[in-house]
Amino acid sequence: MPSPADGSIRAALERHGLWAKKSLGQHFLLDLNLTARIARSAGDLAGQPVIEVGPGPGGLTRALLDAGADPLIAIEKDARFLPLLQELVPGSDNRLYLLNADALAVNEEELLASPGHGGGGARSAPEGARRAARAHIVSNLPYNVATPLLIKWLKAGAWRASMTLMVQKEVAQRIVANPRTGAYGRLAVIAQARCAVRYGFTVPARAFSPPPKVESAIVHLTPRPDAYPHTDGLERVTAAAFGQRRKMLRSSLAGLAREYDLGAEDLLARAAITPTARAEEIAPAGFIALAEIVRGLSA
Ligand code: SAM
Repeated sequence: MPSPADGSIRAALERHGLWAKKSLGQHFLLDLNLTARIARSAGDLAGQPVIEVGPGPGGLTRALLDAGADPLIAIEKDARFLPLLQELVPGSDNRLYLLNADALAVNEEELLASPGHGGGGARSAPEGARRAARAHIVSNLPYNVATPLLIKWLKAGAWRASMTLMVQKEVAQRIVANPRTGAYGRLAVIAQARCAVRYGFTVPARAFSPPPKVESAIVHLTPRPDAYPHTDGLERVTAAAFGQRRKMLRSSLAGLAREYDLGAEDLLARAAITPTARAEEIAPAGFIALAEIVRGLSA
């Protein structure tokens, strides 16, 4: 008899009487060749802990299990999908752990490190996750919470390994953007200060059911050995600088500088940044220098 993991995703949805809810950003991948491609693009996952947010009907979940993820912790907010996903557990060699929770509220480090944590309905953290705490994140993200989840994971500590994420194409472009381009902004600076970033591939709207209004893309983020640790300061300086992105930095950073009884030109000089430059001309290293100066002044 074929196992539930052999049938089509569409058949599984029909069998469980499930449909997509717009409010939860539900756009499903029914093509198992595509989900296998996404899992492959995440690199060698065999024996590696993986967290998947929003498994939904489980197309990517199946691919991640096939790729050898161990354990695979799948966090789904919509409880309707749990019975369908539960069908994948028996064939998973105890590698699949399901968690019915809001991924924004989950403490992944606790989930990986200590039993009984991680939010509503958490099962004990799997043995394998406790042994090897660094987890890859692979997810077709719900678009309405993609950016807050990404920021949360960018700030995360040593528990987080690589991220392979399906996001709106425009968000992927903002993550990998270079200075002096329209897409370059706070997201690029914070992402690139923490991770090496790479645009994977574009996925057309028709690949999803139901199709979203925009194209999507896979983006890869790999932790940098020299990841800048003080992300709060980086968020602060980039908020001030890009809040008025058309202005020169000597004017957009005036308020921030004043908090330290400095002129903006003085603050910028300390970070070796030209006062007439605009935010979009400054590489992440420049914002890191600014964040360090402000940190020194705050100490
Ligand atoms: N992985 C599935 C696929 O590729 O077909 C579904 C992807 S769908 C774009 C996003 C999934 O995230 C949905 O299953 C949705 O219910 C779930 N979701 C939405 N918000 C969530 C949250 N805050 N925490 C966890 N899951 C969430």
